[in-house]
Amino acid sequence: MSGFVFSEKPIRIERGEGVYLYDTNGNEYLDFGASYACTPVGHCHPEVVEAATDQLERLLYVQASYPHAERTALYERLADVAPRDVDNVWLCNSGTEANEAGLKFARHATGRSKIVATMQGFHGRTMGSLATTWKQKYKEGFEPLAGDVEFVPYGDGEAMAEAVDEETAAVIIEPLQGEGGINPVPTEYLQRVRVETATAGAALILDEIQTGLGRTGELWAADKHDVVPDVLTTAKGLGSGLPIGATLVRDWVAEDCGNHGSTFSGGPVVSAAAGATLDVIEREELPANAAAVGDYLVAELRAALGEAVREVRGNGLMVGVEVRRGANPILRDLAVEHGILALPAGRSVVRLLPPLTVDRGHADAVVDALEAVIA
Ligand SMILES: *Cc1c(COP(=O)(O)O)cnc(C)c1O
Repeated sequence: MSGFVFSEKPIRIERGEGVYLYDTNGNEYLDFGASYACTPVGHCHPEVVEAATDQLERLLYVQASYPHAERTALYERLADVAPRDVDNVWLCNSGTEANEAGLKFARHATGRSKIVATMQGFHGRTMGSLATTWKQKYKEGFEPLAGDVEFVPYGDGEAMAEAVDEETAAVIIEPLQGEGGINPVPTEYLQRVRVETATAGAALILDEIQTGLGRTGELWAADKHDVVPDVLTTAKGLGSGLPIGATLVRDWVAEDCGNHGSTFSGGPVVSAAAGATLDVIEREELPANAAAVGDYLVAELRAALGEAVREVRGNGLMVGVEVRRGANPILRDLAVEHGILALPAGRSVVRLLPPLTVDRGHADAVVDALEAVIA
């Protein structure tokens, strides 16, 4: 009955609306995980549903070699909102594929093979992206992966400077590590990574699959840190839950990126959903809301939890609470006793990644519940 590789949770969700999910028994849950950041504009946003439904009825699919309006519009939309000139767009179906393409493009454009990645980093589960993912548990029994990857400590500028050389095709890095425990880094560090890669002629790949689309308080964390990468990847919330990923690249990478392709690249329905999602994020000024509610949430969590937890950290609505015992029992109590869904990040971090539409009232509910469960 249960899935073959996933472990399933005991709650059966059947409906979602805005920041709430509803189970088959009619219970309501405040969704502070956004199903892994996949619903930045909330569940089933009417504008996204309408865009996808209209497109479903017109044309489900046409081979990617014929241009169609929804994909063309999405190319333009993404180029428009991309950091500066990172405006050549490749579309795919997931985060790992977006990184996979970024790694391939960087190797081809530089003619080099070495990739530098960071400890605790997470970039996906296909062979190439997996090779740049830190956690050994995800790799065990699948080797050899797409080799020639060196890992350096996240946040250590000296170690990065030492690792990046004229053999390096790319550095792949999250501007704020998600899966690895919600680990923010100073702006100076990311700017140094930018300088080191540029000096060595290597591509800087910013993996914004979790940080992007407004989550950290700007549309991209790249903007927040004033860093222009050579490659930026996005996925997760881009289609409000429909499967889509994008790899945005600068001209020098696009001009010499080799041969790549995918049958479903920029399908009509997911393109329509992604275009509508970007429209809502912009019109409702969700990055600014993420910054304001995120700052409030962090301050309230620190005040309420104090010494009962190790640390509260994050940017915008990407917040981690490092607890003094395992995160899983806390997540269970939050769900069962308080109707609040959140996520783990590693063993001891409670990860909060709500839809970017939440307000202070929702933040208060989560602070009260965490206080009751932890203190
Ligand atoms: C989730 C995630 C990925 C992988 O995305 P999938 O769609 O699961 O393949 C890659 N990088 C980061 C930072 C992520 O959070």
